[in-house]
Amino acid sequence: IYQIEPVGVAFPKSKEQASLVIRAAADAGLSVTPRGAGTSLVGNAIGEGLIVDFSRYNRQITDLDLEKRSVRVGAGVVLDQLNDFLKPHGCGFGPDVATSSRATLGGMIANNSSGARCPIYGTTADHVISLEIVLADSRVEKISARHKSLDAERAAIEKVIRAASAEMAECWPPGLIKRWPGYGIERFLHAPNDLTNILAGSEGTLAAIFSAELKISPLPSEKGLALIFFASVGEAMQATVELLDLKPAAIEHIDRPLLDQTKGQLHFQAARDLLELDSKPCESILIVEFYDDVVERLSMLESRKLGLRKKILTDLSGRCASLVSRF
Ligand SMILES: Cc1cc2nc3c(=O)[nH]c(=O)nc-3n(C[C@H](O)[C@H](O)[C@H](O)COP(=O)(O)OP(=O)(O)OC[C@H]3O[C@@H](n4cnc5c(N)ncnc54)[C@H](O)[C@@H]3O)c2cc1C
Repeated sequence: IYQIEPVGVAFPKSKEQASLVIRAAADAGLSVTPRGAGTSLVGNAIGEGLIVDFSRYNRQITDLDLEKRSVRVGAGVVLDQLNDFLKPHGCGFGPDVATSSRATLGGMIANNSSGARCPIYGTTADHVISLEIVLADSRVEKISARHKSLDAERAAIEKVIRAASAEMAECWPPGLIKRWPGYGIERFLHAPNDLTNILAGSEGTLAAIFSAELKISPLPSEKGLALIFFASVGEAMQATVELLDLKPAAIEHIDRPLLDQTKGQLHFQAARDLLELDSKPCESILIVEFYDDVVERLSMLESRKLGLRKKILTDLSGRCASLVSRF
């Protein structure tokens, strides 16, 4: 746990208030740390200067456009709040962080968060259309591919990045969907006219995000799950690679130490019975989730020689799915 006592905490209700407090902190020589729900694991939402907390206010959801598949959110909107709002319209926000009941969209953008369904939805940066940001000198600007604001700053960033790009490219494994640490330099090089590419993932170090226009996705028409049981973690890892051509929405791994935690616990016994964990033990389980064309893809998976045994679940509204989700 990281602990630093800040000089002060501000809870701005508007972009004007955010601009005033950030300017005042900068003038006083204080560091500024924007903050959402504070669920980050690396101490990046705390600081010794001024904390600007966007989670208390700024929770408005507006400008839903179902044709364009976009919506505008305040930085303090929580992911579950957004998905509850979108669900009656048959839509949702793709990236699904495990902390969805608390994580704010401001924090998700600044961390470039993503979740288990990263293979189909990518990361939060892929869903940002435009951002309204507050700079340390108090300017409030809109940035996107279509906005021409901050052109001098954009050009300066591009110059620095291009000068070091060859050296940096050597360090990046090709084709990596999710790369956590540091700025989204490769995204920016791909589309240097769009500053959102460098703001997403900048962890509050470049500007505070006040609101965002986001892409939304249609909810899947059907879902299916396959559980594959393995004799070793190594075999499960190899199978993950062999399953990618079936385009799963997510592949999650549970190993023996975690499964053993559920032994003798009444709450988990029905799930253990369903998966026959006591009579047919295993070292490792892959939970493979599919969206759409479920029957076809599950039967392709079933026909492959993978693991010790398999369990297929197509009715995810039922008891089986709720039992499996307990793991
Ligand atoms: C149990 C657990 C599970 C997790 N699972 C996942 C997961 O599945 N996927 C994943 O990606 N992450 C995960 N996380 C990490 C974290 O929950 C997410 O990154 C989350 O999106 C952060 O949102 P937040 O609102 O809590 O941001 P905070 O923690 O408050 O802030 C995160 C960063 O963003 C900056 N920031 C916050 N708001 C703004 C703003 N308005 N403007 C500019 N910068 C801002 C902060 O300065 C900080 O650097 C997990 C964390 C925990 C504890």
